[in-house]
Amino acid sequence: MTELPMTPDQNLSRRSLAAVWHPCTQMARAAVVPPLAIARGEGAWLFDDQGQRYFDANSSWWVNLFGHADRAINDAIKHQLDTLPHVMLAGCTHAPAVELAERLSALTGAALGHTFFASDGASAVEIALKMSFHSWRNLGLAEKSEFVCLRHGYHGETIGALAVTDVAVFRDAYDPLLMRAHVVASPDSRLGAGQEALALADLRRCLSERRGHVAALIIEPLVQCAAGMAMHEPSYLRAVRVLCDEFEVHLIADEIAVGCGRSGTFFAFEQSFEEADKARWPDFITLSKGISGGTLPLSLVLTTEAVYQSFWSEDVARGFLHSHSYTGNALACAAANAVLDRFERGDVLAQNRQQAADLAAAFAPFGQDARVQHLRQRGMILAFDVKPELLGARFSERFHLAARRRELLIRPIGGTVYLMPPYLIDAATAQFLFEAVKASLDEVLSEDASHVA
Ligand SMILES: *Cc1c(COP(=O)(O)O)cnc(C)c1O
Repeated sequence: MTELPMTPDQNLSRRSLAAVWHPCTQMARAAVVPPLAIARGEGAWLFDDQGQRYFDANSSWWVNLFGHADRAINDAIKHQLDTLPHVMLAGCTHAPAVELAERLSALTGAALGHTFFASDGASAVEIALKMSFHSWRNLGLAEKSEFVCLRHGYHGETIGALAVTDVAVFRDAYDPLLMRAHVVASPDSRLGAGQEALALADLRRCLSERRGHVAALIIEPLVQCAAGMAMHEPSYLRAVRVLCDEFEVHLIADEIAVGCGRSGTFFAFEQSFEEADKARWPDFITLSKGISGGTLPLSLVLTTEAVYQSFWSEDVARGFLHSHSYTGNALACAAANAVLDRFERGDVLAQNRQQAADLAAAFAPFGQDARVQHLRQRGMILAFDVKPELLGARFSERFHLAARRRELLIRPIGGTVYLMPPYLIDAATAQFLFEAVKASLDEVLSEDASHVA
């Protein structure tokens, strides 16, 4: 018997299932929901090798700010590729890294004037944690060795980053391996009007119980993304800064997901204080994901003069000796500089305000939809929750498949449907997104209703 000819798409998908161990995936489910074989990308659209197109509503895991195969970013990488793809950043330096560090410093008004480079988000978090502890140690305060993080916070999945991550599905299996961090209440606004005060009281309790032992608090400013786009107000961040000062604890703002204009300002943290108020800036900011526009892995840890000075010594061991092979990769830095060019030249933030308003207008009907709760938005992140009592088995997977059939690539987090699109939205695109989301929701929830009936 001859085998049925496989379409190129199925072929690549099947080969992938055999040879590629996909991230964040139970492979037994991937066999049922085979990966899309994506052949190319253009703007907000991805094309599979059948020519079928999909709108990349989650910006390929939140990295793709200006669409796929953006000309200006690609040209910057190509130019760098022909000039200097990579050189080690110990004992050498290069223009793209220097330029990037200077520009990021300028974006913080020189409050965080020192940039340490790494390759992905989790490694930036590791660096911030190590740097915080080591900085206190260099100041003779080695007993400040504990970290505080928020309920349902997410900071990556290496062992150190996972220790300050409170998302059960990523963490539970590895819990015995992890350093003990203190988890305090989240200001998640879905929990009601009093939640912010409650979260602050819980943080105060923790910091005062562990006074003298806490090195740093790590938070995702304004939106706890992986938790299901849990949002809070800038006022929370202001109060957190005050508490960190009071208890002499570093504040690490993990802007890996919310940075680079996603929240409405370049850094989400900016929304919580007056422009000139440098003292309000966090002690560390981590950046990754969007900074290279969805092209190459790159992450950065920005920190203050005070932290930097605490390592300054003739003694090698007092230095920060951390490194990765590709630290400060020149291609990735060139891509990041092209992203910052776009912010400078294109007035991205003003355009994003318009795009966010278009999204809000298109999705407003969900505010009156009885199946939906907690419709919420912060800049270019829009989310809502399907009422838990309506969620059937494998809602997220079935919604994903229903949306695929409507030219939409989207992966809900549990019962939270969210959009985090490239910054390429207009009113018509927003309307398309709404219609595709609504039709997918109608399909999945009516299947569930008919099962119940
Ligand atoms: C994605 C993410 C990370 C981890 O980044 P990776 O590049 O996936 O390691 C850390 N913190 C936050 C807030 C993130 O969203």
